[in-house]
Amino acid sequence: MKFYNLKDQNEQVSFTEAVQRGLGKQQGLFFPVTLPEFTQKEVATLLEQDFITRSLPILSAFIGDEIPQNTLAQAIKTAFSFPAPLVRIDDKIALLELFHGPTLAFKDFGARLMAQILSIVGKNDPITILTATSGDTGAAVANAFLGLKNIQVVILYPRGKISPLQEKLFCTLGQNIHTLAIEGDFDACQSMVKQAFEETPLRKTLKLNSANSINISRLIAQICYYFEAVAQIPPNQRSELVISVPSGNFGNLTAGLLAKALGLPVKRFIASTNVNDTVPRFLIEGQWRPEKTKATLSNAMDVSEPNNWPRIEALFRFKNWSLKELGYGVVNDKTTERTLLELNELGCLSEPHAAVAYRLLRDQLQAGESGIFLGTAHPAKFKDKIEPILKLRLDLPPELAQRANLPLLSRNLPADYRALSDFLRKLPLSF
Ligand SMILES: *Cc1c(COP(=O)(O)O)cnc(C)c1O
Repeated sequence: MKFYNLKDQNEQVSFTEAVQRGLGKQQGLFFPVTLPEFTQKEVATLLEQDFITRSLPILSAFIGDEIPQNTLAQAIKTAFSFPAPLVRIDDKIALLELFHGPTLAFKDFGARLMAQILSIVGKNDPITILTATSGDTGAAVANAFLGLKNIQVVILYPRGKISPLQEKLFCTLGQNIHTLAIEGDFDACQSMVKQAFEETPLRKTLKLNSANSINISRLIAQICYYFEAVAQIPPNQRSELVISVPSGNFGNLTAGLLAKALGLPVKRFIASTNVNDTVPRFLIEGQWRPEKTKATLSNAMDVSEPNNWPRIEALFRFKNWSLKELGYGVVNDKTTERTLLELNELGCLSEPHAAVAYRLLRDQLQAGESGIFLGTAHPAKFKDKIEPILKLRLDLPPELAQRANLPLLSRNLPADYRALSDFLRKLPLSF
């Protein structure tokens, strides 16, 4: 399958090249030249298969024959080594739990598949992963690449703006994982990363690769769990399905829309955000006007310039869908707190990101529809925020308990590209 640069239609690359380069010229995102589609019968068959078996044809629809089927099947098995269960909240609404991976967030799916694919297509040449995180990406990427041969990983995050436990998950690893605490917000981190990719000599020497949701391999990995969600619904209840996606950089929603484009029966998606509401305002006013990023309870969604939006626009254009069909909504911290309490009364111990998605789903679901909202992170990752709201005490799962007392190995850096560039130049090239 070919992928093209959304900023320059003439730049077309193979899947392998898109994965290795991350971004195209002028920082353009790669997007499939054509969107594959399964027949209804094929979708029905896929939905009868198990998660691992089904993910092979789904991913092959985008990868084509660039990776041999048995190699890809093995990579899927290694990457998707944990379940994505659908848990009923009431008779209309269910929660898709995407947090059973090693770093307890949905980003494990994409990061782990990407690590596998890169080591297959990279043939062990030294590379450097450079990425910005608003929280969970860092942990997922660091853990997915930890100890991989010839791969250095550099992760930027906004200092003091991610949960202390989240920080412990990826800033205590050492080895080939380097973490930089930046004096700025996530958008500042993302912009520094973008600048490094623009510096061609540096990019080439270090073989820079961004592992954030920009990378097409991470995005297509996430398509697989949307199928897994629907597969867990009885066939006679699969029509009129609405899925609410807690969104920050909009990779997760892009993957959901790609699943729908492939033929997955989803009536409507809801783009659920916190008060960093560039997309909802765009859908209302038709104007793209990012504002300064605001810190919220759902901090992994504190993104005011969501990177993946051009992909969503391209997808709607290709399918001739109207953006008017996309649901959306904004939830502030106060309502998020109230919703956490409400979910707790329903027997669901949740966290702020899922609560944002649940809130809009419950408010917007119409008669005859049923809904799924995505649980993007394990509640324990946000223990310090949830405990005072719900007035209870949460135990740490073993993945977190192990790391909670280890010292942070991060280095502080100003939000200044020169500081990053100096750091990168001193990085050992191979490992
Ligand atoms: C990254 C993240 C999100 C936002 O996902 P996007 O794909 O960036 O929209 C939501 N919730 C959690 C817990 C996350 O880590």
